[in-house]
Amino acid sequence: MLHDNGHGVVVVGASVAGVHAAEALRDNAYSGPITVLDAEPGPASYDRPPLSKQLLLGEWDLPRAALRAPAALADRHIDTRYGVHAVGLDVDAATVHTSHGPQPFDGLIIATGATPRRLPGVAPMAGLHGLRTASECLALRADFERGAELVIVGAGFIGMEVAAAARAMGVSVTVVDTLDAPMAGQLGRELGQQLQRLHEGHGVRFLLGRGVTSVRGVDRVESVELDDGTVLRADVVLVGIGARPVTDWLSRSGLDTSDGLICDRRLFAAPQIVGAGDVVNWHNPRYDRRMRIEHWTTAMEHGAVAAGNLLGDADEHRDADLVPYFWSDQYGVRIQQAGITGATTRVVRGDPDTVVVLSGDADLLTGVIAVGADRAFVRARRLLRKPCTLDDAEDAVASLLARGGVGSEPSRR
Ligand SMILES: Cc1cc2nc3c(=O)[nH]c(=O)nc-3n(C[C@H](O)[C@H](O)[C@H](O)COP(=O)(O)OP(=O)(O)OC[C@H]3O[C@@H](n4cnc5c(N)ncnc54)[C@H](O)[C@@H]3O)c2cc1C
Repeated sequence: MLHDNGHGVVVVGASVAGVHAAEALRDNAYSGPITVLDAEPGPASYDRPPLSKQLLLGEWDLPRAALRAPAALADRHIDTRYGVHAVGLDVDAATVHTSHGPQPFDGLIIATGATPRRLPGVAPMAGLHGLRTASECLALRADFERGAELVIVGAGFIGMEVAAAARAMGVSVTVVDTLDAPMAGQLGRELGQQLQRLHEGHGVRFLLGRGVTSVRGVDRVESVELDDGTVLRADVVLVGIGARPVTDWLSRSGLDTSDGLICDRRLFAAPQIVGAGDVVNWHNPRYDRRMRIEHWTTAMEHGAVAAGNLLGDADEHRDADLVPYFWSDQYGVRIQQAGITGATTRVVRGDPDTVVVLSGDADLLTGVIAVGADRAFVRARRLLRKPCTLDDAEDAVASLLARGGVGSEPSRR
């Protein structure tokens, strides 16, 4: 329960988690002040998934990627302030220190997300990109328009989405990764190899099982050197080797930030302080394990749970017992995953390009991954919410695929 000292709720981070949390405060009838702070320049918060898809391709402009029109938040008396950096947190004084001065709070929602990891020992230079913000997306796009030779370091989902966008723009693409298949960490080896074939069919070259030792250039990127001595000519390099939670500003707060912002099952980091989104490491009671998820839907769901719990009495608090979900779009094929990988897997194939992998423990369904089988995925994702045997899930998915249940019922985000 919030102790009302007239300061209201402060949300740090105005992206998916922060914006949904602020709106959920109002949905829960909170009528006090809500102040949302973000380091980005504004004038509006935007969605990140289009940064490696429609915005990078030039199909959308930035206003179309807005999370909310600025007026939509103002209409709900949510005071959103861009260009404001949170630089410290005094838990005892219930105050966030910012680039614009101290901001006291009655309740605090920490939603500062994640930032791309950098290649160790490689200094910033022109042509060397990460991808997290709109300005990074537009800079990458501008480099593609020069007709570039692109090297992507990291075959995770951001790297592979950028590869697909770059090929659509006629850019030549080489992907380097230490793993032996793209997105192998998320999809497993077999599906990763299927994805590799999809990309190779569009002209992407893979150099797998190899690491990058240096990126060279004088005024801008010129080449990338690999650990087997190969030197790749490069006009543009995208580094997509994962992200780290943004907790630097909390380093002297006393909160545990040993691997993200450590929260309990109800997303509390401390009394009156909750976390939401990519920054959070929480105990998910559904799986009885700690999780740090860097995907859109979890960020949104966290926002709603965190806001509700911040306002409610302890006996009303909800567990964040969420089923993780992500989607990725590459060459018009949707790849989706929900739940977690178990010890047993069953592979159900539709046409050669369509596959659903069901995963389970002790014969109970725990997770599903689908490539290009939207309706079958939606069905399996629903089954994850209740106890369901792998046999029943396999029957349901197989009969949908046999009836041509490939597309195109889009999955709820
Ligand atoms: C290119 C790209 C494509 C993606 N595509 C998909 C996809 O297809 N499917 C999917 O499921 N997920 C996708 N994601 C992941 C998804 O966008 C993230 O999970 C989501 O944005 C997380 O939201 P968040 O609010 O937790 O954090 P973020 O979106 O990272 O936002 C955090 C906000 O906090 C602000 N902030 C940070 N530090 C401070 C500070 N000290 N002071 C003030 N403000 C601060 C930042 O400026 C930022 O606006 C993609 C991500 C990227 C980068």
